[in-house]
Amino acid sequence: MNVLCFVERDDELSLQALTLAQQLGAARAVTIDGAYQPSAWAATLAGQAADAIVAAGSDRGNELLAHVAARLDQPFAANVTAIDGDTLTRIRWGGSLLEEARLHGSPLLLTVAPHTQPAAAPVEIETLAAADDGSPKVLETVSESGGGVSLRDAKVVVSGGRGVGSSEAFAIIEELAALLGGAVGCSRVVTSAGWRPHTDQVGQTGTKISADLYVACGISGATQHIAGAKGAKKILAINSDPEAPILAAADYAVIGDLHEVVPAISAELRKVRGS
Ligand SMILES: Cc1cc2nc3c(=O)[nH]c(=O)nc-3n(C[C@H](O)[C@H](O)[C@H](O)COP(=O)(O)OP(=O)(O)OC[C@H]3O[C@@H](n4cnc5c(N)ncnc54)[C@H](O)[C@@H]3O)c2cc1C
Repeated sequence: MNVLCFVERDDELSLQALTLAQQLGAARAVTIDGAYQPSAWAATLAGQAADAIVAAGSDRGNELLAHVAARLDQPFAANVTAIDGDTLTRIRWGGSLLEEARLHGSPLLLTVAPHTQPAAAPVEIETLAAADDGSPKVLETVSESGGGVSLRDAKVVVSGGRGVGSSEAFAIIEELAALLGGAVGCSRVVTSAGWRPHTDQVGQTGTKISADLYVACGISGATQHIAGAKGAKKILAINSDPEAPILAAADYAVIGDLHEVVPAISAELRKVRGS
């Protein structure tokens, strides 16, 4: 099978997508330089001869392949985790369901769910020219959280929920995240209350993290939140309620008031480090 894999340079998720593309057949890795222009880039990809077009299941990969699918009037399977013959498995309902499906269409169009494949060895990437059709371009990307380590890539995420109580009280969450070299996350209650920006939200309708450690402070553990947190290798829950559902997903738990427990952890870290 003649497979085209869209990759972005220096992007781990693209190399993961390439692994699955290589399982389908001989994969040609291509990228497009310049300002991101969804419609024009999709036209470029749609114009390539290929039996399958694959991309990472990132915001950009999913958007781009949705444009390709619309242009070619073909079905598109997002967030695929595995392919066996003509049957593919893909993540549905924010990660709470794995669906087996048959994808019909030519070319096959699919994106690969993040962190479900090992990264492929780097290959030579061919750069295609985008035909600028005057469609909207992304000229600048502004991070609302003002830089620092991104939620998606952070090795440690310290998150706060309703139990934190206010935007000011997030200072203790920020302090612990900084001491651990991590990023700050939160639940939807927190973004809805305006305590943190939406870019900090972990969950089904937020970011899906893949940290080594997720520290959930004052978060009950609703399924929509866990959908974004379960990619973490270890979960530490800090909650005053010993019956909180998050405890079922947690590897470690401290039952107590986060306003005492979180500063105590930070103080201990400072002591150990002599700072
Ligand atoms: C379609 C849909 C999509 C959604 N998407 C998301 C999503 O992406 N992300 C998300 O997070 N939610 C999402 N939600 C909302 C979700 O269902 C929950 O309402 C939300 O996650 C709850 O947030 P919370 O855990 O902060 O608050 P709560 O459920 O109110 O839990 C607060 C927790 O804090 C604990 N607590 C209180 N005070 C303290 C204290 N002093 N010390 C320690 N612990 C304390 C309590 O015991 C409790 O467990 C979605 C809902 C829907 C319907």
